[in-house]
Amino acid sequence: LSDKLDKALHVLKGHGSITEVNVAETLKEVRRALLDADVNFKTAKEFTNTVKEKALGQNVLTTLQPGQLMVKLVKDELTELMGGETAGINLSGTPSVILMSGLQGSGKTTFSGKLANYLKTKKTKKPLLVACDIYRPAAINQLHVVGDQIGVEVYSEPENKNPVQIAQNAIAHAKQNGFNVVIVDTAGRLAIDEAMMTEIANVHKAINPQETLFVVDAMTGQDAVNTAKAFNHRLNFDGVVLTKLDGDTRGGAAISIKSVVDKPIKFIGTGEKMDAIDVFHPARMADRILGMGDVVSLVERAQEQFDEEEARKLQKKIAKNQFGFDDFLNQIQQVKKMGSMKDLVGMIPGAGKALKDVDIDDDAFKGIEAIIHSMTPKERTEPTIINGSRKKRIASGSGTSVQQVNQLLKQFDQMSKMMKMMQGGGGRKMMQAMGR
Ligand code: GDP
Ligand code: MG
Repeated sequence: LSDKLDKALHVLKGHGSITEVNVAETLKEVRRALLDADVNFKTAKEFTNTVKEKALGQNVLTTLQPGQLMVKLVKDELTELMGGETAGINLSGTPSVILMSGLQGSGKTTFSGKLANYLKTKKTKKPLLVACDIYRPAAINQLHVVGDQIGVEVYSEPENKNPVQIAQNAIAHAKQNGFNVVIVDTAGRLAIDEAMMTEIANVHKAINPQETLFVVDAMTGQDAVNTAKAFNHRLNFDGVVLTKLDGDTRGGAAISIKSVVDKPIKFIGTGEKMDAIDVFHPARMADRILGMGDVVSLVERAQEQFDEEEARKLQKKIAKNQFGFDDFLNQIQQVKKMGSMKDLVGMIPGAGKALKDVDIDDDAFKGIEAIIHSMTPKERTEPTIINGSRKKRIASGSGTSVQQVNQLLKQFDQMSKMMKMMQGGGGRKMMQAMGR
């Protein structure tokens, strides 16, 4: 019972707790992240509703670490939405036949090469690449270049204009020459058209592949969903390949496609090079889509360290324009209590990686503290009285220079102004200005 009481008190005190309002706020942020990542609106909304129900069902509000639990709920649900487990590919059959489908430029030819290379090195298979894109001579050539690069044979019939025949001949060739995987690269158009669909459907029917993969450019966002639907309707494909997930594509197309056609995403392409291929991991994609970093623990840590009483006093002072250097010193100490600067920066999404190799000086505050300590109490509450001779005295007392003292005074002045703006409801405006 005392355990329960403890928990209840913990929440009541408002320490590190997530309130119902916070759950809603958090989910709003999650929904925004999903929409930013190109997840369609309906899916995003359904998703956040599900998470909300689960959160309430699990009494998130009364657990000791509601923030962590919330994050876990969101991640787990998102992972589930993308298929949960990693899906493998079917390599049964002698040879096993893999058919590539997708629009022109989606990355079929590149991925065919990557997959051949992957199977060759990782699974010790002997793959054969087949050029069934017969419309552009350059396409056949492109596959040969890829094949040369990875040391995999490419089957092509430059004079033959019948992709069904070529594919069938290639499989016969594979059987005779000991290839155990046949990867058939096909032609795509820039948009879905009937001729293309019929052609690939005919190839599909004739060779009856173990795996039909639908290749889609992750950057196409919402369009990807419609394309996936059309191809699935004709081919009932087995899996999806998401290409061009390098760069800052968030990969929200993954969720939309999965929820619309209900086929697993099996591989991702992360670059133009032949080794830029990865098995799809739903949990990792969830992290990527959310891009939340470790925000929640940052917030919780801040809350733990920050004495609410102090905060209230501070707010009053700012409102009355009484914020002085003593309060400033106090703030610095609060920040320092939260841990090393490097740790803190690491928890900010995006910043962690960018600043990984930058040396962040934990002593950055030392000079500032020394200067403030050298001020008289009156100077601290009324910084405007600090004239030239006072500056000289403070500088020599703190082992700094007049220039450094000036700099701090200037920073302090700016900060006070900003605080006043925030108080006056100008906070949003200021945040926008800072964001620019
Ligand atoms: P296809 O028309 O479907 O055969 O597409 P291609 O394989 O020819 O690829 C079209 C373009 O996308 C080429 O310039 C490729 O180099 C590029 N590409 C393919 N996959 C990736 C990928 O994962 N990342 C990046 N950055 N580029 C890719
Ligand atoms: Mg191609």
